[in-house]
Amino acid sequence: MADPTPKRSSWRGDKRTAAQRGYDYKWRKARAAFLKQNPLCQYCEEDGKVTLATVVNHIIPHQGDETLFWDMDNWQPVCKKHHDSTIALEEARNAKIGGDSSGNPADPNHHWYGRGVA
Ligand SMILES: [Zn+2]
Repeated sequence: MADPTPKRSSWRGDKRTAAQRGYDYKWRKARAAFLKQNPLCQYCEEDGKVTLATVVNHIIPHQGDETLFWDMDNWQPVCKKHHDSTIALEEARNAKIGGDSSGNPADPNHHWYGRGVA
């Protein structure tokens, strides 16, 4: 009989299809080519810094959507630091359950606080 509580396999799940492994290879190649053409972190550039981008970030989280995933207009080159903080911000936004969040980064050293100082 069927499991009364079927496990919903998320796109982040461990079990990957052969197609997904194929994307993996294609993505690695596409990502490398993109970073070659767009070698600098976009956020650092906005801050007037020059940092080598090592990550291609999806501006609009693709959440498994192939169209968004492969849409190069939705890609931006970022450094690891900014990628991690962007993800943290997005997750904080998605996980905004408590009412005590000011919406500002908790880290006083966060680059947002350095903005506009010129
Ligand atoms: Zn950066």
